[in-house]
Parts: sequence; C-alpha cells; structure tokens
Amino acid sequence: VCAETAKKLAEEGSGHTHGPLLYRTIVDTFEKIEATTKRLEITAHCAALFLSVLKSHPQMMATVVYLCINRLGPDYEGLELGLGESLLMKSIAESTGRTPAYVKTEYQKLGDLGKVAQSSKSNQRAMFKPEPLKAANVFDTFREIAQTTGKDSQNAKINMIKRMMGACQGNEAKFIIRSLEGKLRIGLAEKSVLVSLSQAFVTFEAENKGKKVNPDDITAGEEMIRDVFCQLPNYALIIDAILENGIMRLSETCKISTGVPLKPMLAKPTKSISEVLDRFQDTEFTCEYKYDGERAQIHKTESGEMFVYSRNSEDMTVRYPDLVSIIPKFAGEAKSFILDCEAVAWDRKQNKILPFQVLSTRKRKNVNEEEITVRVCIFAFDILYLNGESLLTLPLAERRQKLKEAFTEVPGEFLFAKSMDTSNVEEIQTFLDQSIKDSCEGLMVKLLEGKESGYEPSKRSRNWLKVKKDYIDGIGDSLDLVILGGYFGKGKRSQWYGAFLLGVYNQDSEEFETVCKTATGFSEEMLQKMYDKLKPTVIETPHSDVSYDSTPANLPDVWFDPSTVIEILAADLSLSPVYKAGIDQMDRGISLRFPRFIRVRDDKGIHDATSSDQIVEMYQNQAALVG
Ligand code: ATP
Repeated sequence: VCAETAKKLAEEGSGHTHGPLLYRTIVDTFEKIEATTKRLEITAHCAALFLSVLKSHPQMMATVVYLCINRLGPDYEGLELGLGESLLMKSIAESTGRTPAYVKTEYQKLGDLGKVAQSSKSNQRAMFKPEPLKAANVFDTFREIAQTTGKDSQNAKINMIKRMMGACQGNEAKFIIRSLEGKLRIGLAEKSVLVSLSQAFVTFEAENKGKKVNPDDITAGEEMIRDVFCQLPNYALIIDAILENGIMRLSETCKISTGVPLKPMLAKPTKSISEVLDRFQDTEFTCEYKYDGERAQIHKTESGEMFVYSRNSEDMTVRYPDLVSIIPKFAGEAKSFILDCEAVAWDRKQNKILPFQVLSTRKRKNVNEEEITVRVCIFAFDILYLNGESLLTLPLAERRQKLKEAFTEVPGEFLFAKSMDTSNVEEIQTFLDQSIKDSCEGLMVKLLEGKESGYEPSKRSRNWLKVKKDYIDGIGDSLDLVILGGYFGKGKRSQWYGAFLLGVYNQDSEEFETVCKTATGFSEEMLQKMYDKLKPTVIETPHSDVSYDSTPANLPDVWFDPSTVIEILAADLSLSPVYKAGIDQMDRGISLRFPRFIRVRDDKGIHDATSSDQIVEMYQNQAALVG
C-alpha cells in the first residue's frame, strides 16, 4: 500500500519520473548542515532535503531519515554501527592505496577518520569514473555490515567498505566513514530531524493542495510526530502512515502496537517523603514497591507472538525463555497486551526476592531454559494495551483495575506490584521501611486519578516519583554515567585502570560532558573486568563529541570510545572549573563530590545516561534546599 501511495505521490508531486536517489543528494545537505551551528538553518537544510525526497522518492523517506540520524532502523532491531577505528583505518588504507602508517599519521593530525578518508582518497586517480552511489545501496550496505558477524567477519566488512569507498566521489567518503564509525559530527540532533520532518510534510501537503503553509500546522505536526514516536518508535511506520493519511491524522492512524516496544515512562527522583507529599498535595496518589531487577515490557501480539523488551527497547525475548513460559499461566483470556513490569531474581525455596546482583549473574547469550539457575518473578505495575485497545490515556487507577481483572497472579512467578494508597506520612514511612526489608529499593509514588495520571511514554514525569531509601541522605538519586577515559592504577592496581573519567549526556548538543573522576567502590575483580571490557575501546584522541577540560593535568591516561554506563552514588553536587556537565545552562560545569561506583548498567545505552538537564535540575534542587 505504501509503495502504491508513494508512487502516486511522486507522480502528483513532481510530474516527472526520477532515477534512483543518489547518496550525493544527502551528503550535500550534510555539508550545508556541518557549515552552520544555527539550529534554524540546520532544520531548514534538513527540511529542504526531506521535501525534495518526498517529491521525488517518497518511498525513500525512512531511509533518508535513518541516514540523517545515523541509525540502521528502529532501536529494537538492535542493528548498530560504530565500527572500531582500527578496522576503519585498515579499510581506508586498503581502499586508497595508502600505507597504514600514513593513515595513522593523518588521523593524529586531523582527529577525524572521515576527513582522513577524504584526504587519502583525494589524490587517487580512478581508471574509470565509478557509477554514482545510490542512497539505498549505501544504507543496505551499512545494514549488511552491521549484520555481519562470526568468523572472518572483519574481512567481509572491510571488503564491503572498500567497495563503497571505491565508488565514492567528492566528499562522500568523509560521511561514509563517519557514519560507519557511528558519528556523523554535523550537529544534527534527532530533535531537529523531527522538526524538519514536520516542516517537510506540512509543506508538501500544502503545496499539493495549492495552499499556503500554516506555521501552526508545522508546530502541531511536530508535536504529533514526537508523541506518536514515543508510542511507536519506528520511523518507517510513521512515515507510511503520514503518506497514506496525511500528517494531521497521524495520531489517529498510528498508535501503540504490540511487537513495537514503546519508550517507557520514567520517574523523577526525590529526597524525602515530605517532598513527595508537597508534590502530591490535594491529589489521589499511590505508593508501590520499587523492585530492584530489570524492567521488562511484555508484549503478546494479536497473532499470539510473545516478546520481552528491556528499558532500552532491546529485544530480550531469547534471554528470558523462562519468563516467556510463564506468560500463558498468567495471561488467561487476554488476546493481546503490553505490560510494564520488573523482572526480579527470585528464591524459589524461600519464596523471596533476591538482590539485583543475583539477577545480573544470569547468562545474557545462548540461554537454555533447562540450565537457568537464577529464576525470575515478574512484578507487574502497569498495563498499556489490552485486546487491541490502547490504555495509555486512562487514569492509573483504571489501568490498575484492568490489569488485575485480566491477569491472574501466579505465586513466585507473576505478581502485581505491592501497593498502598495512602497520604499518611507515618504509613508511607512504614511502607518504605517494609519495602527495604522485602529487598526492594524503596518506593515509586504515582498519581492515581485524573487525566494527568495517564501513562506518558518516554517522559520523566513528575507524576511518578521515586524514593530510594539509600539515597535519601545523598543527592536523591544515583546517576548513570558514561565512561569516557581511564587512569592507570597505582601499586597492586597498576595493571588495570584504577580510576575513570565519567560524563553525562547532553541531549541538545548530543555531546558527552565530563562530570567527575572516580576510583571508589570497585573491587579488584571488577577492575579487572572493566579493564577487559574497556581495553578494546581505547582510542587515540577523544572523540569530537566529548566536552572536556584540555589542561594536561586534567586529562585521563587513555580515552575510550564511549560504550559503557555505570551507576554512581555521590554525596552532593558542586560547581567546578574543570568539569563540563550542564555548562551551557550554568556557565560553570557541575561535578560530583565523593562519587562511588555501584554497578555496571548493561541495560542502558550511552545515550540513556543521566542527561545534562537532569544534573542541572538536581543541582538546582540541592541549591534550593540549602538556600
Ligand atoms: P531511570 O529509568 O529513571 O533513568 P533507572 O533506570 O536508573 O532510572 P530507577 O531510578 O531505579 O531506574 O527507577 C526507575 C525504574 O524502577 C524503572 O525503570 C523500573 O525498572 C523500576 N521499577 C521497579 N518497581 C517499579 C514500579 N512499581 N513502578 C515503576 N517502575 C518500577
């Protein structure tokens, strides 16, 4: 249907036929975007590209969007680029006839493999002018490279890259290599891409109808795309729906669906029960146990398939065959559903919750149900979809009722999150203490009644507050930070990295900003594990998307290609002349005092780390309390 609509639109929109969409068209826009830092100009260039693609090759829209945000498909497909620099350097050397030493020196000089690729290629004379690169082929090759695994995959990848490099003209090599490295470095944030998409579609539809563009429609379209994307994070499905039914009908035609993990609702941290009571004054709210396991979004599709997705929209179905086996026991007559749950390690002999550390010892690959020793119990706390119907806008009280009506508890395997609806301080305090005794992290306090208590996908909402017992005296919450650099240890620890430079993620600039150095809380076993994990990610120069202080005394011994998120607890936050977190908003960066390692967060990608906005908010809350 989409292809048909697309063809019709192409004919109507342009009045003539076109050859394939060339990669050059996209790269020309990348160059224009790279040349400016002004957000309005960036979105205008991006929207112009989208509009021209809509007119000439509407069936290519999703591919073009993915090339612009440098992804290979929806997150839940799990296909990723981000090839290592040694493989890329080898590919550049082999495809341009340069020596590895030359490529290395150029890299040290330019600090950007994309530029190295382009300069290495520039003097190369081709015998024949190659056929121009097609956008679809570039994207398909990227996907193929990402899917290539196993023995000899390195060579296969290098060969595919060489083939593309051989066909590159002009500045294409620069962007091919940057895309493969996982960093386009043009300052095009996904937020701007969403704005541009709306601009392009609204303009396209207005032009087709011979009308003037209404700026209000652009804003409305943008909001709609953003909201729908949180429910259905798949550009191809959204673009198909817009092409089919128009942008203004998007929220009716494109909704939460089973088989597509939606971005989970998140909670705001609080430091005390009185802070919770202040927030929820004069409202109906509920306290639930905050279980300490792994978030699990459980789907049963209309065709009976079952999926389990992580907090990060990763497909964990094969990691949890035991969990999948439990589903029919609790699902009763429910034909299709999406549940929001926490999977927690469970002691079947003593019938009690085991700590998170036990859960994290479960195998992550090649899991065989018979061999599983750490069993899980699912604690369901929300339902988002039931029998073909979205429940997102229902108040929490009604969702909870539906959850309890449609599903049946199975002791030790599937239970409803323990809850208490009260606004009495003593009762909440007792419930909090009890949650800790029952091996939970504390409480989640949620708005229960009214429109505002609907489920807000992807949002860190003030309608969900977390109260973690351990953190009440600290800064209210732990932080999830990206490891950016390492320092060799001293004495016994000198064979490993003994300390790490950590950063937060700035979602606007799409940069990592340094926030602290930590050496505390690691066992020797953990340091060794960290060394083995991080050593292969060492890079010669920090990536251009890291904002750090370049005074030699403040530099780490090695830089890493950001890959790992760790949870950190700190005493408090302070302004710092060295660190960069939140510097756009505060003039000076924010840093952590007495940061201490808690655990590795394998369930978080680097872009899910604590954001600059969050740390600024925490700093301001702390300042308000002190002030
Ligand atoms: P965030 O998701 O807020 O970035 P995080 O992943 O570090 O932070 P927490 O700060 O521990 O997680 O708090 C939210 C998480 O708590 C949820 O993602 C979910 O996995 C877990 N959780 C446990 N019990 C509940 C509950 N009753 N309601 C909602 N979430 C719960």
